[in-house]
Amino acid sequence: MNRNLWIESPTDAKLDRLCNELADRAAELDRQQAWPEEQLRLCAEAGLWRWFLSPADGGLGWSEADLMRGYLRLARACLTTTFVITQASGALRRIATSQHDEVRERVLPALLAGDAFTTLGISHLTTSRRHLAEPALRATPEGDGFRLDGYSPWVTGGLYADWIVTGAQLADGRQILTIVPTSAAGVDCDEPTELVALSGSKTGAVQLREVFVDSAWLLAGPVENVLVGAKGASTGGLQTSALAIGLADAAVTLVEAERARRTELDEAAAALRHELGAVMSDLLSLAEGEAVCTSEQLRSRANSLVLRASQAALTAAKGTGFVTGHPAGRWCREALFFLVWSCPAPVVASNLCELAGIES
Ligand SMILES: Cc1cc2nc3c(=O)[nH]c(=O)nc-3n(C[C@H](O)[C@H](O)[C@H](O)COP(=O)(O)OP(=O)(O)OC[C@H]3O[C@@H](n4cnc5c(N)ncnc54)[C@H](O)[C@@H]3O)c2cc1C
Repeated sequence: MNRNLWIESPTDAKLDRLCNELADRAAELDRQQAWPEEQLRLCAEAGLWRWFLSPADGGLGWSEADLMRGYLRLARACLTTTFVITQASGALRRIATSQHDEVRERVLPALLAGDAFTTLGISHLTTSRRHLAEPALRATPEGDGFRLDGYSPWVTGGLYADWIVTGAQLADGRQILTIVPTSAAGVDCDEPTELVALSGSKTGAVQLREVFVDSAWLLAGPVENVLVGAKGASTGGLQTSALAIGLADAAVTLVEAERARRTELDEAAAALRHELGAVMSDLLSLAEGEAVCTSEQLRSRANSLVLRASQAALTAAKGTGFVTGHPAGRWCREALFFLVWSCPAPVVASNLCELAGIES
């Protein structure tokens, strides 16, 4: 653990170096659909996991606004790695809320050092499989804990995780949020799904068959809507917008680079940069607690922008951008992710209105 390597703030020049390393590897990562192992190692070495925790937990205590600044930079460099970081940091932040010192002491130091990995599987409590009569993952009280049965449909990097933070529903409708060690009997990660983009995130379902979880691993509940107000594990949080805006930034930068040689791109490049500046500024205001709009309105705008900006980059790059390996084509595929990732109903409705050409 070398403190000198840690990125202390989003203005630290070491963040530029880390982002350059991630950007240099992004095309190959996409081509190989590989787990970003080296990228995550570099992030851990740079103290990245510490951004998310308070000094009392061994972290650097970055503010929400600084976290968003960090995410903007990382997403601009490599969306796959940054997306994996959002899932792991969401789980990390939840684990830090554990009331059990022995759990925190066992888990947090290894996660902060990058010697272990954790991830989130909570979408079945928020945006996935909600229309089904039966909950995807059931919890039954048993002895000093709960027995879990069912599956978590979307878990990023489950195969690489030592612990998964997941939620389950009791027969009376209350929910729990708990850490599940992946070594527990009955936990099985499915083969990761091949995706339109971000396949390197190695996302897939995790099956839980009669898995006993001791109450020491419990993070919250049993309570109704266990994720309401839950930091680090909620839907449509600001970081989802930060990632979309970061990717849009990469795309707008490409349009600007092309514009240097072709004046016909002037107007589009300027309009996109202006819009990007406004959305970025609202993101940071929201992160600082200023209610300039709702987080859902911001997410809808970020989604719209990233789709248009990535396609503007492809348009500017012309046929060359359509060749596999060119970033513009990859960014177009990656932008589609924001239509489906952690999208609360109002964001889905707003995206659909825009796509259908209906004024919302
Ligand atoms: C690449 C990727 C990575 C992800 N990683 C994570 C992660 O690490 N952790 C995490 O917690 N989540 C993760 N998610 C989940 C994500 O945030 C959303 O929850 C997910 O995209 C919702 O899609 P779904 O197909 O599961 O939705 P569902 O609502 O389950 O829809 C599935 C299908 O059911 C049908 N359907 C939907 N609604 C209805 C209805 N009302 N009535 C009848 N039929 C209906 C439709 O045919 C739909 O195609 C990830 C998603 C993706 C795509």
